[in-house]
Amino acid sequence: MSIADNLSNIKNRISHVCNKVGRDASAIDIIAVSKTVTEVRIKEAIEAGISNIGENRVQDAWQKYQILGSSAIWHMIGRLQTNKVKRALQFFDFIHSVESKHLAEEISRRADQLGKDINILIEVNTSGEDTKIGVDPEKTVGFLKQIAHLPRLNILGLMTIGAFLPDPEQVRPCFITLRELRDRIISEGFDEIHMKYLSMGMTDDFEVAIEEGSNMVRIGRAIFGDRL
Ligand SMILES: *Cc1c(COP(=O)(O)O)cnc(C)c1O
Repeated sequence: MSIADNLSNIKNRISHVCNKVGRDASAIDIIAVSKTVTEVRIKEAIEAGISNIGENRVQDAWQKYQILGSSAIWHMIGRLQTNKVKRALQFFDFIHSVESKHLAEEISRRADQLGKDINILIEVNTSGEDTKIGVDPEKTVGFLKQIAHLPRLNILGLMTIGAFLPDPEQVRPCFITLRELRDRIISEGFDEIHMKYLSMGMTDDFEVAIEEGSNMVRIGRAIFGDRL
C-alpha cells in the first residue's frame, strides 16, 4: 500500500466514525507522525495531501525541516528538553508537550526573544502510567493558572497519549478524561486560553479518540507503515 492509499483509508475511517457520532470530518486534523521516516517519504505524504507533520525529536526534525521547509505545519509531539527550546521555536508551529512550569517559562522567554508567538498544548497524563510525561489531570487547572499570563504563549488545547493497552476500548477512559478536563477549563473562563484542540488518538485508537471529541489525531504507522 502506498502512502496515498493509506491516507485515503484513514480518511474513510475518519468519515465513517464522524458519521456515526454526528461530527464533521473536515474539523479533524490529521498529523502525520514521521519520526524515523525519511524526507522522501514525508514528501510523498505531503504530496498526498498531508499538511501537518509530527516529530518527537528536535534534532531529527530540524534536519528534515532543512529539506522540506514550511511545506507543512510542524508539530513537536515528544518530550522537549529546555536546552532544545531555542532550536524548536525556530521551526515548530505547535508544541504539544508542555508539561511543566519551567518548560512553559523557557518557551515563553525564548519566543519573546525571537519576537514570535507559539502555539502550545498542555500534555496531560490521563493514564497514570509513570513512564508517561504530562500534567496530572487534577493539577491541570492549577498549572494553567500559573502559566496563562506568560507572554507569547497561545495556549490552544490539551494533548494526551492514551494508556498502552491492546483494546482501544480500554483507552477510552483516557480520552474521556481529557475531554472533561477541557470542558472544566472552559468553564473556568480563562481570558488568555482558547481550548480549541484536543490532540488525542494514534494508529491503534484514533477512532475511539474521535468519538470522544479529538480534533487532532497523531498517526504514524497507519500512514508510513511499521517503524523499523
Ligand atoms: C509515535 C507517536 C505517535 C504515533 O504513533 P502511531 O502508533 O505510529 O500512530 C503519536 N503521538 C506521539 C506522541 C508519538 O510519539
